[in-house]
Amino acid sequence: MITTSITNPSAEVISNHIFANVLLNNESSQKSLHTSVSFTPGDVICHFGAGVIQPYATYLTVQTGADRHITLVPEFLQYINHSCAPNVFFNTSTMELVCLRSLQPGDEFTFFYPSTEWEMAQPFVCNCGHEGCLQLINGASHLSVETLSKYKLTDFIRQQVRLKLSL
Ligand SMILES: [Zn+2]
Repeated sequence: MITTSITNPSAEVISNHIFANVLLNNESSQKSLHTSVSFTPGDVICHFGAGVIQPYATYLTVQTGADRHITLVPEFLQYINHSCAPNVFFNTSTMELVCLRSLQPGDEFTFFYPSTEWEMAQPFVCNCGHEGCLQLINGASHLSVETLSKYKLTDFIRQQVRLKLSL
C-alpha cells in the first residue's frame, strides 16, 4: 500500500526473481514487488497457481470463487500491493497475471484489490495518491457499479455484481 521506488534510498532489494525484485522499505517496513523488465499492456507477465486453497479470505489470499481463496504461487506475487490506478490484473479464470499499463524496470507492480476481492478480510484506507483514489478499500461489494465499471474485474467479481443487480 506504500508506493516505493527503486531509487528510494530507504528501500532495499531483499530478493530477486525471474522478472521482479522484492523491495523492503525500511521506514514503513512495507514490502513491494518491482519489475526488472519492461512489459506492455496485454502482456502475460506470468502464470500463477494456488498454494493453499481455503474457504475464507486473509490478507494474503486472492479470491477465485464464492468460498474459494488461494495463496499465490509463486509466493513473491503476494507482495503486489493495491493501487486505485493498477498496472497489473490477476485473471483468476486463466490464472495469468496480465499487464494493464506499460511497465519499465524499477516500476512497482500494483493491482486493484476489489478486482478479485468481493469482501476483504482487512479493509484499509488507501493513500496511493492517484486522482480518483477510492480511499476506503473493503472489497467490490461496497463499490458502485459505476466505479467498478472503470476497472478490469475477474469473471467471479463480474458474476457477483450481476447477482447483486438481479436481487
Ligand atoms: Zn488509492
